[in-house]
Amino acid sequence: TDGVVDIHALLQGYLQHARAGGAKVLTSTKVVAILTQQRKVTVVVTESGAIQTEVVVNAAGAWAGEFAQLARAVSVPLRPYRRHLLTTDLLPWVKPDWPFVWDFTEEVYFRPESGGLLLSPCDEVEYPPGIPPVDRDAAVLLYRKLMRYPRLHDLPIKATWAGLRTLAEDGKFVVGWDPLIHGFFWVAGLGGHGVTASGSIGRLAADLIIKQDWEGIKDFSPARFILK
Ligand SMILES: Cc1cc2nc3c(=O)[nH]c(=O)nc-3n(C[C@H](O)[C@H](O)[C@H](O)COP(=O)(O)OP(=O)(O)OC[C@H]3O[C@@H](n4cnc5c(N)ncnc54)[C@H](O)[C@@H]3O)c2cc1C
Repeated sequence: TDGVVDIHALLQGYLQHARAGGAKVLTSTKVVAILTQQRKVTVVVTESGAIQTEVVVNAAGAWAGEFAQLARAVSVPLRPYRRHLLTTDLLPWVKPDWPFVWDFTEEVYFRPESGGLLLSPCDEVEYPPGIPPVDRDAAVLLYRKLMRYPRLHDLPIKATWAGLRTLAEDGKFVVGWDPLIHGFFWVAGLGGHGVTASGSIGRLAADLIIKQDWEGIKDFSPARFILK
């Protein structure tokens, strides 16, 4: 079957390795200001104190646009879009080795999850940064898109969750040094691939930062938004 990532385990693995490598992790600590001198990052101010630094990484997801404004970095047209996921109660007829099914005609997907199914109607509604509310009509949209699958009508929905997928206007990742503010590095606009691509994007970002590679990958560079 297709690979499925345990997101919690993946994140804990990243944290464990980062701490083992000497990183200090501050959770629930908002960055409220980024100070610059002659267009160079000098200090990151958090709710619990200031940190002197020459480099700051903007990995603020749906908030990446706001975060960049703190440093007066380049304005990247990023838009967060809400999408729903639904899970069902146990369904004895679902086999755990079923493949991940993505119907590109109707834009709907489903796969086995915890003895039932996980499904998404692949909805895409622009939403401001934050935790988006769940729309009860997500199930209605889901069933409409599942018309071709009689077995999947009226499923016992156990939980519905909504989150944001944030995309740059050209749909490509935004990874690289900011063209306006020295020391400001972008890892944003990961859309619907931020988990799957996290290992390679993290490695790429670390490489560009350590090697001080100002050019990076042209297609991902935030500089593309001032070169138009
Ligand atoms: C329904 C749904 C299904 C998805 N399915 C998949 C999938 O199958 N595969 C896949 O790869 N991806 C999937 N995604 C997308 C994936 O979740 C995102 O690409 C990924 O979470 C983006 O990670 P991120 O670290 O860039 O942003 P986030 O996970 O949003 O993290 C940004 C963090 O920055 C913090 N932050 C913001 N502002 C500040 C500040 N001022 N100071 C300090 N911290 C700040 C926020 O609190 C947040 O913790 C899905 C998304 C949704 C909604």
